[in-house]
Amino acid sequence: MTYGMGAVAYLGASVLFILGLGGLSHPETARRGNLYGAIGMAIAILATVLAIGGAGLPVIIGAMVVGGAVGWFLAKRVEMTQMPQLVAVLHSFVGLAAVLVGIGGYVSPHTAFEGVEKVIHDVEVYLGVFIGAITFTGSLIAFGKLQGTIGGKPLLLPARHWLNLAAVLVCVGLGYLVLTADSMLAGLIPLLAMTAIALAIGVHLVMAIGGADMPVVVSMLNSYSGWAAAATGFMLSNDLLIVTGALVGSSGAILSYIMCRAMNRKFLAVILGGFGNSTSTASADAGGEVVATSVEDVAGMLRDASEVIIVPGYGMAVAQAQGTISEITRKLRAKGVNVRFAIHPVAGRLPGHMNVLLAEAKVHYDIVLEMEEINHDFPSADVVLVIGANDIVNPGALEDPNSPIAGMPVLEVWKARTVVVSKRSMATGYAGVENPLFYKDNTHMLFGDAKSTVDALLKQLDA
Ligand code: NDP
Repeated sequence: MTYGMGAVAYLGASVLFILGLGGLSHPETARRGNLYGAIGMAIAILATVLAIGGAGLPVIIGAMVVGGAVGWFLAKRVEMTQMPQLVAVLHSFVGLAAVLVGIGGYVSPHTAFEGVEKVIHDVEVYLGVFIGAITFTGSLIAFGKLQGTIGGKPLLLPARHWLNLAAVLVCVGLGYLVLTADSMLAGLIPLLAMTAIALAIGVHLVMAIGGADMPVVVSMLNSYSGWAAAATGFMLSNDLLIVTGALVGSSGAILSYIMCRAMNRKFLAVILGGFGNSTSTASADAGGEVVATSVEDVAGMLRDASEVIIVPGYGMAVAQAQGTISEITRKLRAKGVNVRFAIHPVAGRLPGHMNVLLAEAKVHYDIVLEMEEINHDFPSADVVLVIGANDIVNPGALEDPNSPIAGMPVLEVWKARTVVVSKRSMATGYAGVENPLFYKDNTHMLFGDAKSTVDALLKQLDA
């Protein structure tokens, strides 16, 4: 493949990636956006493989077959609820690739660069390895926190900000040693020392972030992985990797900003960590009695209602209850009940998690409303059906300044006439905070697995 053809292919792929991202901004065009992205990636891979050609080709194709098979097998096996963990692992791969490409690039063609070119190359390698190493271990810790193998509480080392600052300053010093080294070996030692420190920074940075701030961590690591890929693009002089990395990096940064705004948190405060540690007084103050209800009673409430709002959360995803909920919605709407969905920006475990599940279950997106669109409608709702949601409907976020989720806007479901909460027990949600909603006078707890519960509810509505 000639250089010109390669450049055209890369340009085409870049345009398709941008169109893909644009398409993902709306449910109606999301499928098309995905397709554009997939075609762009196919073109990018083909153009890159053809450009390598020669003796390296069998190795590349062999690696692609093995990597593709592992990816295919894992993606097939992963449940929808494990998607966030899969994404975290994939981010860690991007980080690890940046580290390996950087160190490999530093070791092998070192002598080929002279003067300013060498300085530029070494800076690219240094930054790429630094960002890549932080992304790698940060994503592994995020994986552990999402999987539940690492606790949600932030790790608060004494003087942790000073520790981070000192680590970054040492990395700057080591960078100077790399740039001024007179031999490859003399530069390699500080480069490897920086890699070890950056790996530790990645661990410390994410360990210090509390459970409630994890949505921002996920999008932030998404952004980091983009910048790590862009840095790899610079190291390999691959324009497409630079463009793609910048797209992922900047869209991840915008998403982090949106998530911060949704949670009423300052980005810097999230990154510096420590939030989500205070113990809530909500549990002690919640008092009140828990009133359990039955499927029969809830069916009666729904039949008599004219305004119903459904609030889905992580439990709906775990139980895979969205299909039945969609059928219940169709049935009630056919009877003239105005059923709508309220989506909190951090519901579930991924940005857009609930929207994807509901779209999959063919719930029309016209009746799926974002928090700011529907929050003021709760006082006029007859019944609010909370399906496997907890933190996103916790009044403690507004009422208890000591709550780990204090200040986070929540869906104000308790303002409705009746609230029905479907979950298995009184257990807390992801942030580990007690929920005073369950003790309110107008709240009825519908205990049981969400799927079995809504299946029974559908049957009851049919009866
Ligand atoms: P939560 O994790 O707060 O609560 C989910 C509830 O679902 C649990 O309390 C659980 O209670 C219940 N549940 C679990 N399985 C079932 C089941 N099979 N049937 C019925 N209920 C079930 O989820 P929310 O969606 O309310 O809030 C999301 C949380 O996740 C927030 O804290 C957010 O910060 C965090 N997060 C969000 C990310 C994102 O990008 N959206 C990323 C990372 C974290 P029980 O065990 O009693 O059934």
